[in-house]
Amino acid sequence: MDIRAHVSMVFHLDKCIGCHTCSVACKNIWTDRKGTEYMWWNNVETKPGTGYPTLWEDQEKYKGGWEKGKDGRIHLRLHNRPGGLANIFYNPALPNMDDYYEPWTYDYENLFNAPEGDDQPTARAVSMVTGKPMDNIEAGPNWDDDLGGSPIYARNDLNLDELTEDEREQLNEVERVVFFYLPRICNHCLNPGCVAACPAGAIYKRGEDGIVLLSQEKCRAWRMCISGCPYKKTYFNWSSGKSEKCILCYPRLESGQPPACFHSCVGRIRYLGVLLYDADQIEAAASVPDEELVAAQRAIIQDPFDPEIIAAAKKNKISDAMITAAQNSPVYKFVKTWQIALPLHPDFRTMPMLYYVPPMLPVLAKTKDGTYDVEGLDKENFPAMLSSLEKARMPIKYMASLFSAGNVQVVEEVYRKLIAVRIFKRAQKVKDYQQAEVDAALASGKTNAEEVEAIFRLTSLPTYEERFVVPPLGREMAVEAWENPLDRKREAGFGVRNKIAKRKF
Ligand code: SF4
Ligand code: SF4
Repeated sequence: MDIRAHVSMVFHLDKCIGCHTCSVACKNIWTDRKGTEYMWWNNVETKPGTGYPTLWEDQEKYKGGWEKGKDGRIHLRLHNRPGGLANIFYNPALPNMDDYYEPWTYDYENLFNAPEGDDQPTARAVSMVTGKPMDNIEAGPNWDDDLGGSPIYARNDLNLDELTEDEREQLNEVERVVFFYLPRICNHCLNPGCVAACPAGAIYKRGEDGIVLLSQEKCRAWRMCISGCPYKKTYFNWSSGKSEKCILCYPRLESGQPPACFHSCVGRIRYLGVLLYDADQIEAAASVPDEELVAAQRAIIQDPFDPEIIAAAKKNKISDAMITAAQNSPVYKFVKTWQIALPLHPDFRTMPMLYYVPPMLPVLAKTKDGTYDVEGLDKENFPAMLSSLEKARMPIKYMASLFSAGNVQVVEEVYRKLIAVRIFKRAQKVKDYQQAEVDAALASGKTNAEEVEAIFRLTSLPTYEERFVVPPLGREMAVEAWENPLDRKREAGFGVRNKIAKRKF
């Protein structure tokens, strides 16, 4: 057992209002420099949709993440590190400018300085790459925002592939139109494809908190990290000639503050906290069959209250304060205790440490006469407010493609618990449910009144301190602990630092 601590995240998608404040907060701090104009370390996509860069989920095209080989082990889709070295001048899987978009600004000066004439002066669009006027703007980072351009864009969403032709067509009917927002940042994965793909060893995972960083000194511009990341969350700065990525605002974390996108989030959808995990299990957990990936990822997360885990954590020099942070972590509750937050595309096998509570919208439906549809699953005893999961507006197969590598049962279990929360609270506040219906909902969600109250509390009424349990990250103290020769001796020459150095990606 090799217990480590990881600063991890939950995004509650039912709470996201698609305001993009998070994206702007990040942009203002980190990517307002030359060469970063097109970068959105935090972006918010509309689903169904093709996202940014376009069709980033298409690993046939981009070759990101890992795949299971015939030998039962996982291999990078792109190539391994030696393979990367042998092909440093050849990387055909990179997204190009058209896959992102050509960033532009407007010639506002012309509004003030244009010579007198018969026409009103205009501020023409100007490319931020070439400096030349752009006559046709054909893409942007949120080009299909709120289903803009749908069905042209939305119908190309790869997660719709699992749906039947009828189901796909129904999604385009005006009365059934449905969408939700998917905010995305670097997932600071446990098994990061970007780290494994970099021939220069420029990307690394910080030992003390799991944050994935990219050394600007070591980067040699081979851009294998961009291909290796299946989420396309590393970017190339065309001005500096180096790759860049989300740093989870580690300077803010180290001073006790949540990342800027978390702090500014209008919908308060974001939660941050520590998870303890067993690093010895990573490769095995990333190698299980698709349908077992979510369970394997949950199993790797360890109970921070278990005395055996605490002892193993202390042996690895994880501080008492870090363990306390793990015990108070909202992420642990959502992911492990309640099991209602899921990783995005676990099928990429990078084991993302950002988890999503899927949106409820697909399982709520009212019929035209105002009554609720109860046909299908659970007709016998399911409360009349909710349509069956099988008859959801957004087919559950779509959500399973996004959040459980196609395992419908995993997503259904999450929804059953979320439905139980709604019915329980509605019975309490609106009083339009009988106790028998509440009991049926709790049984269906495999939950109880106490758990449902706790889920409601952390979802709807959390304080700032409950949303963000930022551990004390004294970077200099952690490094000193590893570098202390006495400590290293005590570890018989195999201390934490050595273990981190020996870890293979
Ligand atoms: S999401 Fe982040 S940590 Fe994961 S592979 Fe991509 S860049 Fe690396
Ligand atoms: S700031 Fe929060 S609510 Fe607004 S788009 Fe970003 S994640 Fe969603």
